[in-house]
Amino acid sequence: MATASAIPDLDRLRPAGTKRSSKRDLIVNVFLRQEGHLSADDLVALIKREDHRISRATVYRTLQWMVEAGIARKVDFGEGRFRFEHSYRHPRHFHLICKTCNRSYEFLSSDIEALVEEVAAARGFQARQSVVQIYGTCEACRTGREPAEEGATSELLFARDALRIAIATERSGLEFYTRAARITKDPRGKRIFHELAEEEKHHLGTLEGRYRKLLEQDPQLESRPTFLFFKGAANGLFAAGADQLRRDGVDDLEALRIGIRCERGSHRFFKRYGERFEDSEGKQIFLEFAEEERQHLEMLIREYRLLQKRQRKPAPARRRAAARSA
Ligand SMILES: [Zn+2]
Ligand SMILES: [Zn+2]
Repeated sequence: MATASAIPDLDRLRPAGTKRSSKRDLIVNVFLRQEGHLSADDLVALIKREDHRISRATVYRTLQWMVEAGIARKVDFGEGRFRFEHSYRHPRHFHLICKTCNRSYEFLSSDIEALVEEVAAARGFQARQSVVQIYGTCEACRTGREPAEEGATSELLFARDALRIAIATERSGLEFYTRAARITKDPRGKRIFHELAEEEKHHLGTLEGRYRKLLEQDPQLESRPTFLFFKGAANGLFAAGADQLRRDGVDDLEALRIGIRCERGSHRFFKRYGERFEDSEGKQIFLEFAEEERQHLEMLIREYRLLQKRQRKPAPARRRAAARSA
């Protein structure tokens, strides 16, 4: 299915007043077909193979234009020249750079991103972009083994890892609500937790189906290296909450409070990574879930307030009784 976001509209991106240029289209298409990080000279060599009449200057100019149009991102691996990667269908990421073979490996870490945001916020700094580059020696150079065969794009790995986290989250959510329904004494609260458990079960089914579909695109996808590191959510964003429910003496209000905290984290996760998905279906699933988690969050907050009120009512009677018996 072609969507507006699936194919870059080069005519729309072309600066006003520039004529349609088949040379430029050829350069853009060759560039978009490449994975990884090309130097301008790498691109010139690729273009010369397609059409030797295209000059180096034209390739350079087009690269510059692609950067301005948001099709390409400039990356600096400290080699004294820039490299370029396409930003189209390609979430922002960090790099591991091997100084022996000059290969670079991409990854993303929610933990690093959260930390960077925390630091910036603490200093009142409005962050626009952060670049994390780790220099060293890659596994292939270190061990003399052949580098892992490439083939999966970062986009596919990102979708795989984001889905894994989402599945872990729904699984832990199901466990959390099942347990919360069991320990809650208030009948209304019990019913609400039951309903939420059912919804998480339904979400889980949708995500697992989506994950199976993704695996069809690459039979080796499951064994490829991790792209998205997210320690805080590896066991699911509700796992810590489910553990807390196991403690003695968690009352109905406390269970709701823990649920509120988990739903808030889950909503933020789906929203943040849904917005980064380029793939239209994955994006849709994530953004829909973000919205549903927000509704769960609001529902739990409402229930929390109602339960507080219900529990407060008989209190004066109790106090009067206590006063009488004193
Ligand atoms: Zn290397
Ligand atoms: Zn990259």
